[in-house]
Amino acid sequence: MYKIAVLPGDGIGREVTEQAVKMIRRLGEVFHLVFEMDEALVGGASIDRFGAPIVPETLTLAQNADAVFLGAVGGPKWDSVEISKRPEKALLGLRQSLDVFANLRPIRVFPELASQSPLKAEVVKDLDFLIVRELVGGIYFGTPRGVKSLPSGGEAGVNTEIYTTPEIERIAKKAFEFARRRRRKVTSVDKANVLESSQLWRKVVNQVRQSFPDVALDHRYVDDCAMQLIRNPRQFDVIVTTNLFGDILSDESAMLTGSIGMLPSASLGHSHALYEPVHGSAPDIAGKDIANPLAAILSVAMMMQYSFNLIELARVVEQAVEKTLAEGYRTLDIDQEGMQRVGCSKMGDLVAQRIKNL
Ligand code: NAD
Repeated sequence: MYKIAVLPGDGIGREVTEQAVKMIRRLGEVFHLVFEMDEALVGGASIDRFGAPIVPETLTLAQNADAVFLGAVGGPKWDSVEISKRPEKALLGLRQSLDVFANLRPIRVFPELASQSPLKAEVVKDLDFLIVRELVGGIYFGTPRGVKSLPSGGEAGVNTEIYTTPEIERIAKKAFEFARRRRRKVTSVDKANVLESSQLWRKVVNQVRQSFPDVALDHRYVDDCAMQLIRNPRQFDVIVTTNLFGDILSDESAMLTGSIGMLPSASLGHSHALYEPVHGSAPDIAGKDIANPLAAILSVAMMMQYSFNLIELARVVEQAVEKTLAEGYRTLDIDQEGMQRVGCSKMGDLVAQRIKNL
């Protein structure tokens, strides 16, 4: 039996989570497995009910689960809430309390969607690389932080980028391990020409590499990497980088695939794992049943692979997505002429129907 904590969150987070749950149920039925799912509120929904974006009971539920699935949090309703109680705080709190330090974002262009990319189809053809983003350190968590008044008048806003040797070692090790299962190339991204924290990052990544002589390593400054992702994204296999740089580069990379609605993620620690689509709660399309649920569904595939070691089930989910796309079904964000437009729930049904025993 596998225990899964399900945290739908807000906006389209709820709609796409419903499709992810549909997929997990279907996998259970087809493969005779028991997935026990317990749901809890998080983000704005939790603020409305409990006055906080995440409550200790929800953290305990997540900590006791074999895997956590999260939809997305946030929305205009809570934009005026003070920063320490914003829905997004739930995400940071959850990631930190589960210590899921390695955020994996596979960037893959499905052949049927290559023409959806803002780049030329030949530039993104067969694109398949992995971003390994450090998730629980760096500037999002470093202290001192805050806004303080200056004696001279005005204010100063402060955040601190800080990485320690063990933090860099563990994320670099993960990147090299994943590269070994792929094309054996790691690109480490930093800003070592300006930042001391990046100089340590580069030094430690080089040290970790000594245990992985079979994996090639190169270093790129983040500004150069941002450019290379547009110029020639197929040069990358595994990109390892800090929390802030990873946040930005992975959204840029998301667009290479045509829609952020296609991108799954897994956040792994030593004893916990969190799976979520890369996108947010998309208030502009929430409640209309038009969101793309494939990022959420592909996050279920990652859960099967990384939390439960059910690698064949992960492939079954991916193949069901590929088949549904190949048969011409599209949500609004990836729609093309001549294709059949479907809503979020229908897309979930179509993929679930294509999940068959091997
Ligand atoms: P967003 O990802 O929610 O939306 C960006 C754009 O992409 C929108 O036009 C949206 O309609 C579209 N989009 C996103 N997901 C889609 C999907 N599955 N199918 C079709 N179209 C999709 O980012 P945003 O607009 O910057 O943020 C909205 C809210 O979400 C904010 O409150 C933000 O803080 C929050 N957010 C949450 C997370 C998370 O929970 N992990 C991540 C990012 C943003």
